[in-house]
Amino acid sequence: MELKAILTAIEVLKSEDLRNNLVMGITLLVALVIIIILIPVFILFNPFDSIKDFLSEDEQNIVKNIQANYGYTDYGMGNITINSKFGFPLENVKAVVITAEYGYYDPFNTGVQTKHTGIDLSGIHRDNVLAVEKGEVVFAGVQNGYGNCVELKHNIDGIELYTFYGHLSSIGVEIGQIVEQGYIIGKEGGDPYTDSNHGNSTGHHLHFEVRTSKGYGNDINPKEYIF
Ligand SMILES: [Zn+2]
Repeated sequence: MELKAILTAIEVLKSEDLRNNLVMGITLLVALVIIIILIPVFILFNPFDSIKDFLSEDEQNIVKNIQANYGYTDYGMGNITINSKFGFPLENVKAVVITAEYGYYDPFNTGVQTKHTGIDLSGIHRDNVLAVEKGEVVFAGVQNGYGNCVELKHNIDGIELYTFYGHLSSIGVEIGQIVEQGYIIGKEGGDPYTDSNHGNSTGHHLHFEVRTSKGYGNDINPKEYIF
């Protein structure tokens, strides 16, 4: 049996036509495998190229700007939702572009892991920042690191949840005020050169947090509510 197979293989190799077919077949197979591997690799490393047709020219420029200024970006299309109720906090940005993730990491390569208590969303400078859900303003003012910021208290089907918006260029609400979903609570900011009270921000963006109770340290991962 084995001998027969070897003899057949020799026959194949002896015939030029069959040999050419064999080479052609192997070449096609290799090309197919390369294409199958390369497509996901391309999407993985070029997510912008994969989604840019869905973005407006303005949004494409924002993403390009972020890619030039930050090492890491993560983005897609979608809305922030909690039980499908939360809206998106930036009025004129339709693409969700996260320039810094929630959690422990070492953003400046100092060897020390620090916790990022929210997500950083890329926005248009001084775009309206909107309340993601109806709520009560429990903080509106300046905080260490966050600069101008606003904290809202929500009641989602009987569960208390808080959202926090940092690095605002201006604040549009007062403590105690009740705001509806989509109410303009301030303007996106954090530009260290043109925005006062920018906090520790190095470029304008919205720092967005979801908290289980009021104040710093009660954060949960906002991405659980994204997309
Ligand atoms: Zn942040």
